[in-house]
Amino acid sequence: MDRVRRPSAKLEGLTPYDPKYLPADAMLSANENPRDVSEELRQKIEAAVREVAFNRYPDPLANDLRDAIAEANGLDREHVLVGNGGDELLFNTALAWGGPGRTFLNLPPTFSVYAANARLTDTDVLDIPRLADQDFAIDEEAVLRAVSGPDSQVDFTIIASPNNPTGLRARMEFLQELLAATDALVMVDEAYFEFSRQTMRPHLEANKNLVILRTFSKAFSLAGVRVGYILGHPDVIREYLKVRQPYSVDAVSQAIARVIYQNRAEFEPGINAIIAERERLTGALGALPGVHAYPSHANWVLFSVPEAARVWQGLYDAGILVRDFSTAPGLEGTLRVTVGTPEENDAFLNALRKEI
Ligand code: PMP
Repeated sequence: MDRVRRPSAKLEGLTPYDPKYLPADAMLSANENPRDVSEELRQKIEAAVREVAFNRYPDPLANDLRDAIAEANGLDREHVLVGNGGDELLFNTALAWGGPGRTFLNLPPTFSVYAANARLTDTDVLDIPRLADQDFAIDEEAVLRAVSGPDSQVDFTIIASPNNPTGLRARMEFLQELLAATDALVMVDEAYFEFSRQTMRPHLEANKNLVILRTFSKAFSLAGVRVGYILGHPDVIREYLKVRQPYSVDAVSQAIARVIYQNRAEFEPGINAIIAERERLTGALGALPGVHAYPSHANWVLFSVPEAARVWQGLYDAGILVRDFSTAPGLEGTLRVTVGTPEENDAFLNALRKEI
């Protein structure tokens, strides 16, 4: 056969997720940790991986890792589910709470994967745009109005806090109000919470509709390994168990993540350095003519600059890869720079000064 039937109609017009990950001297585009895992930890990881039986399927639920995460959060393992990166758990959220006839409340501009997952699962999307003139703060009143009352169609929402790619975290008081106002599932995506020092963990017990998403990809330097997790009510976690791929977290990743989690205190100085550099970058960017730096609680800074697409190319030609949002809806004219090492940040600022 030299032909193949058309795929599902819902793929029409879809483009595959493209992180635009190009080789560069300074990789400042994907919100990764600029510091890789230390040599000492690598040795511990090697020892742990040596114990892995490659011929056996992994523990489907990664229970050892689950227990470690649960204990650190003052919870039982039934409150925790580990996934193949946060991305898998985001997709599982759409599978379990979305679907035909169901509605997802989205707060764009935000992580584009949320809307893509809704589309793939035939979930309706209700958009409540963030406030562009208030540094992309959430339109809290509009959100509360949309979810309140028995007529609300919203089945679930995902709120990134801090919000990627804009930077602000959500206000805790607002999130509490939202959780109280609706029985929709409210996922608070805390992929970057280590840089904002704010978590909804204290509100888990009181709110069955709260799920918290976390990842090993950012503060813990494991973007290449693919481990994330959610914290939630055991009844909610049980629903996720119905849609997940049984062996999505391989045994090697489980072993690596266990070592990293046991030694997570080692990452604190690096996190503090990123927070300090974020503030330095924000200040330096804001001092440049024509540049607006959006306040960030995360490990990046979004900024607007005249001729952003040309500036992106100039930076890239100088060996510095940042993320180009210059034509993204609601983000026109902006670029996002991930906080790197002080040297990388200096190289970025020097290259940028030559472009404007
Ligand atoms: N949530 C947000 C807001 C993100 O930016 C990312 C990473 N780009 C993720 C979740 C998922 O990260 P991972 O799959 O690496 O855990």
